[in-house]
Amino acid sequence: MNKAEKTNPSQPRKARDVQHWDMETDIAIVGFGGAGGCAAIEAADAGSSVTIFELASASGGSTAMSSAEIYMGGSGGTRVQKACGFDDSTEDMVTYMTMAAGPQADEAKIRNYCESSTAHFQWLVDIGVPFKDSFHEERAIMCLTDDGLLYTGSEKAYPFAQQAKPCPRGHNLYIEGDNGGPLFMKIVTENVEKREAISVEYETRALCLIEDDDGSVVGIVIRKNQQELNVRARQGVILCAGGFVMNEEMIAKYAPLLSRGNSPIGNPGDTGTGILMGMSVGGAAINMHEGFISLPYYPPASMTCGILVNDKGQRFINEDVYHGRMGAYLLAQQSERFYYVLTIDQYSDYEKVSFMGAQVAGTGETVEELEAELELRKGSLQHTIELYNEDCEAGEDTLQHKAAQWLEKLEPPLVALDVTPGRGAFIPYFTLGGLDTLPSGEVVDPQRRSIPGLYAAGRTACGVVRRAEGYSSGMSVGDATFSGRMAGRAAAAAQRNSQ
Ligand SMILES: Cc1cc2nc3c(=O)[nH]c(=O)nc-3n(C[C@H](O)[C@H](O)[C@H](O)COP(=O)(O)OP(=O)(O)OC[C@H]3O[C@@H](n4cnc5c(N)ncnc54)[C@H](O)[C@@H]3O)c2cc1C
Repeated sequence: MNKAEKTNPSQPRKARDVQHWDMETDIAIVGFGGAGGCAAIEAADAGSSVTIFELASASGGSTAMSSAEIYMGGSGGTRVQKACGFDDSTEDMVTYMTMAAGPQADEAKIRNYCESSTAHFQWLVDIGVPFKDSFHEERAIMCLTDDGLLYTGSEKAYPFAQQAKPCPRGHNLYIEGDNGGPLFMKIVTENVEKREAISVEYETRALCLIEDDDGSVVGIVIRKNQQELNVRARQGVILCAGGFVMNEEMIAKYAPLLSRGNSPIGNPGDTGTGILMGMSVGGAAINMHEGFISLPYYPPASMTCGILVNDKGQRFINEDVYHGRMGAYLLAQQSERFYYVLTIDQYSDYEKVSFMGAQVAGTGETVEELEAELELRKGSLQHTIELYNEDCEAGEDTLQHKAAQWLEKLEPPLVALDVTPGRGAFIPYFTLGGLDTLPSGEVVDPQRRSIPGLYAAGRTACGVVRRAEGYSSGMSVGDATFSGRMAGRAAAAAQRNSQ
């Protein structure tokens, strides 16, 4: 078989070339992570038969690897928010998420997500996902206690806090340690297993879509036990196959700047096949250059009191933002080196609790000494710290607008960490581009016309979360699970095609 003939995601099979349907189902779902599992439950509960095709030997995907923090709120608050004394408004959540997505924001999708968010929380609780009614005060990337709620974004930081009343929306599962993802997928999998209308084919790879002559998607080709099989999907196919962070060729082609990070994070199936399948039948792929990328500079939370400077000795961001925003700003700078400057107290237990892994680049009994050790232009760091300390004394960061609670004068001795990309600091990334979809999960073409029979959710689609500058932990699992449900519901409402 030559390369052109080999079944591949970019080349759909024509229904007229299918001699025989090996399997039939109402809805075929590709991928059994958070999006696929939730899509299956919702579709089965709406009366459809569902088959999930998963290339791994178990469910999970990146969702099971994650902390499974889930971003939810609005409508007066979820049960946990209310119990912790937070009254969340839908409009504040919409404003925050719209600012977070920036010029790429999909307003309809954000509004649907925010207006349905407390109901989504309840849906998760109803399938058995546990959340404790307690608030975690400390700044954390992942919550290592079993507390149910924490700030997981830049809600309290400039410029977001000035536009939307801050409220914590990161919901953390009721389990100690960083174990939310495995527990979450265990619960979703148990729910899938107890529904007779859902069957799961593991160790089965979806190879390409099958389309009608009129462009409707009517099935998929799968490979199972070394055989290619044609699967008819009477109500449609939902692509929930994750993103493309593990596909080096696609990263180089669509999102080259992401590879300035050094650690692609995700499961080995994140090779973009879902996105390629959608594109092969005319689906628009959007926001493909964007991703989550991070400089995980806290914990310890005291790092927030330090300052990040470039090779001119200048600050360029308020250091109380979410670590993804920090990473995105850092990579956008024209600078060859970056240092995180701290007092000894602020450095505190950095070596014990940090995930960042940045090494000490210099120390100084005076600012001048540190500046010389870092080989910065004489006077540059001294000037930055002089202005910063003046602002700390006055209680207002006039240059970068860091919140007053984090303003502490930088009194020597000082220490500087080298956070230059490529010099040891951990800079993880994953993709946020994918198929353009309506809030219902229907995949659309470049003119935003729906492609009949095709739906996408999770990282295969381009969801509510669009860029690192505005990322908050929980937006991806929140989006994957919610968009999966929307797609499951829409596919289950479609007419059965039984030709
Ligand atoms: C370490 C880590 C921590 C994270 N923490 C958080 C967090 O706390 N909160 C948050 O919101 N986000 C977090 N994220 C991001 C988040 O986990 C993912 O973006 C999200 O879970 C993706 O869900 P999904 O359903 O789209 O994809 P996945 O859960 O990855 O599921 C996709 C599935 O599709 C399968 N698949 C792929 N191609 C095929 C094919 N051709 N045929 C059959 N099957 C296929 C894969 O094997 C996989 O099982 C984290 C990510 C990582 C890696």
